[in-house]
Amino acid sequence: MNIATQAAQIGLDWDTRTGAVTVPIYQTATFRHPGLGQSTGYDYSRSGNPTRQALEEGIARLDGGARGFAYASGMAAIANLLLLFRSGDHLVVTEDLYGGTCRLFDQILVQYGLSFTYVDTSDPEAVRGAIRPETRALFVESLTNPLLKVADVAALSALCRERGLLCIVDNTFLTPYLLRPLDLGADITVYSGTKYLSGHNDTVSGLVAVRDQVLADRVYFLQNSVGAVLGPQDAWLTIRGMKTLSVRLDRQQENAGRIAEWLARHPRVRRVFYPGLPDHPGHELLARQARGFGAMIAFEVDDKALVERVLLNTELISFAESLGGVETLITFPQVQTHADIPPAVRERLGINDVLLRLSVGIEDADDLIADLDQAFGGESQRPGPGNR
Ligand SMILES: *Cc1c(COP(=O)(O)O)cnc(C)c1O
Repeated sequence: MNIATQAAQIGLDWDTRTGAVTVPIYQTATFRHPGLGQSTGYDYSRSGNPTRQALEEGIARLDGGARGFAYASGMAAIANLLLLFRSGDHLVVTEDLYGGTCRLFDQILVQYGLSFTYVDTSDPEAVRGAIRPETRALFVESLTNPLLKVADVAALSALCRERGLLCIVDNTFLTPYLLRPLDLGADITVYSGTKYLSGHNDTVSGLVAVRDQVLADRVYFLQNSVGAVLGPQDAWLTIRGMKTLSVRLDRQQENAGRIAEWLARHPRVRRVFYPGLPDHPGHELLARQARGFGAMIAFEVDDKALVERVLLNTELISFAESLGGVETLITFPQVQTHADIPPAVRERLGINDVLLRLSVGIEDADDLIADLDQAFGGESQRPGPGNR
């Protein structure tokens, strides 16, 4: 069944007693037992809550996994997964990783004896070269932030299988609607549900899908033991967002394609990073492996002063962190999202003082382009009357 159909119907058949079309919010901490040694299947909401379970089954279905898990945030999900490893273990990791994930690895988990090697995961040979005898996993972002490098998930999963490593894919920027890493051989997918899956900039959540049942049992043990679970209200909001994932992303991608082309022609824009543009290095790979190119764009302007002008003068487009929602946001990665990456590394990766990032929403593309145009100072070549 198509993902658009599956997503729209999450939780639909949950409440057989009343036939409620949406899953109820089971705002309860605990559940009554029918008898001694008996359970309804629910005992205590950290261990299992029906609203959260509807969401967990939903993400498992969308991703083709044996089981899904919902956490209080994307970071809580990633932190929980990293408990699969023990002191002495080593992981190979995407170098332009989400800043918060980098902070968790380098400032916290290293204290517990884990070690990390950062490589360009869009290059499978770089990954192969970083594997050591004590390497246990690859943690890769399928589409990176903010420079939108594309990982060959099929090739990396095959490499992981060959070397006995777990392949964990942070698929936040693409979602299962655009890429299904478990189908390509990955073991675990992880999402900041805060972004495209919820899609409305109104909820913080994290989601995981695990391909194999034995590994899923282990992740369940960790989820229940640590307890960073998603509450029923936020689980419900995440489900509500996920139901419209396909229509939102279709529109967001269409808008992003138009804006990327407009930026590419702008005289004050030096470079545009959008995998939907044919000259992007990941264009062909995504065209082959995914259903689309997503709706994140990064671009370099020709002058540092212009960065501030654009950030302060956009009106429709909000200067804010986060991404993936229906509202278009613009951010300055060097300061806003990647401050925890060491400056020298940031510079090498190209996260510099003229780089801006757009998360394109569902507004009208002409309105968004007009807003960017006035924020730039109206210096683009406007089409003359009758020219379009
Ligand atoms: C936002 C984000 C996270 C962290 O998720 P939170 O919900 O903010 O905790 C992890 N990975 C990526 C790629 C993200 O964009």
